[in-house]
Amino acid sequence: MRISVIGCGYLGAVHAACMAQLGHDVVGIDVDTKKIKDLSDSHAPFYEPGLSELLRSVQSTGRLSFTTEMSAAAGSNIHFLCVGTPQKKGEYAADLSYLNSAVSALAPFLKPGDVVVGKSTVPVGTASEVLTLITAHEPTAHLLWNPEFLREGHAVEDTLGPDRLVYGVHGGSEEHVAVKILDEVYATPLSAGVPRLVTDLQTAELVKTAANSFLATKISFINAMAELCEATSADVTQLADAIGLDERIGRRFLNAGIGFGGGCLPKDIRAFMARAGELGADQALTFLREVDAINMRRRTRVVEICRDLCDGSILGKRITVLGAAFKPDSDDVRDSPALNIAAQLQLQGAAVTVTDPRAIGNAAARFPELHYEEQTAKAVRDADALLLLTEWQEYRDLDPCIVGLDVAGRRILDGRNVLDPIKWRTAGWTYKGLGRP
Ligand code: NAD
Repeated sequence: MRISVIGCGYLGAVHAACMAQLGHDVVGIDVDTKKIKDLSDSHAPFYEPGLSELLRSVQSTGRLSFTTEMSAAAGSNIHFLCVGTPQKKGEYAADLSYLNSAVSALAPFLKPGDVVVGKSTVPVGTASEVLTLITAHEPTAHLLWNPEFLREGHAVEDTLGPDRLVYGVHGGSEEHVAVKILDEVYATPLSAGVPRLVTDLQTAELVKTAANSFLATKISFINAMAELCEATSADVTQLADAIGLDERIGRRFLNAGIGFGGGCLPKDIRAFMARAGELGADQALTFLREVDAINMRRRTRVVEICRDLCDGSILGKRITVLGAAFKPDSDDVRDSPALNIAAQLQLQGAAVTVTDPRAIGNAAARFPELHYEEQTAKAVRDADALLLLTEWQEYRDLDPCIVGLDVAGRRILDGRNVLDPIKWRTAGWTYKGLGRP
């Protein structure tokens, strides 16, 4: 099938490459000339495991190209909308200006029977407005909302083999002509047994924000339990293991730590609250305010724990932060709790060095006042305390005896509860986890 993918960021670049991998002819379109140049050179403009290799392999087949020209969409029949929907400045609501300008730019190139597929995360009600816009230009065009659930760090495998596909169409009917067309696009994952649900437009939009709200709530729930464990010297990791064995609860997403961040969860729960307010249903989501507050509280709490770890004062202390990305296997630092904590420590007088296997470039662009070091061995040298804030495998694998030879003080705060406290304490370290005695 001939496909255009509009917006080639973390979602769109992966989607474009994966659609070409599934055998389709794909053109990726973005307004960012640097990104398009990188992608055209088979170079992933951000770090995502497997993406560069995939770009090289599909581009060599001639099935994938990239351009800044929206007119290239005229050669396709299916158009995926993958542009950003960030939080508005100073407001909770989503900024839909990128989506609106992408749709306006695409509309003149739509042909009879074309299918526009929305993948961006949007407030409920947005899709029907997009439908009005596109059918004003091309009355026979169709719209599907097909929310994306990929996880950065696993984006390629998640796109090629998602755990479910949701198709939102006007009226919610299986018989809608656009359903058959999207089934052809996803023929490979569907034949491998991926479940597919057809809903109306508004349910599909809500599925995405509801899923993110549930995940955020689960993380904040265990972080609230961590606060109680800290107040009572209980151990939140044992608590999570014990409650997680209940199948109704499950152990995943119950890891207490410094909380969630990134380009999705924080802005999505806020946009969801803002939209609920506009709909007069704000009471339904007031709990998300608490979810957000618990999450943000973790960041200030970690600064306090770090102060305790440094014998009551961080002024002038050399603190090394291990990890800047919002999660491992990604270079994405949007609303990264690790960077937020690093900046707070620096503002309070600590001399902070940040290291990360992939995210230093992005981190330095956001927080140029922090000191960055690429190599872990250099970053930890002469540190008074280490803070593990993004659980990259190489930090999990650190040998406390070897690292201990380079630091000035053997103090470690494990912001993700991934290290073995016994191992670190035996090597002479003062180890502090979150929600652990
Ligand atoms: P991103 O900022 O990495 O990418 C957005 C891209 O859209 C940018 O490259 C930007 O230049 C481009 N763009 C903006 N306006 C454009 C226009 N008018 N025409 C063409 N391109 C335009 O954002 P992202 O992380 O890829 O997220 C995109 C959407 O997908 C968001 O709604 C997000 O919530 C959703 N989403 C993201 C993820 C994820 O893990 N990143 C997962 C699921 C859903």
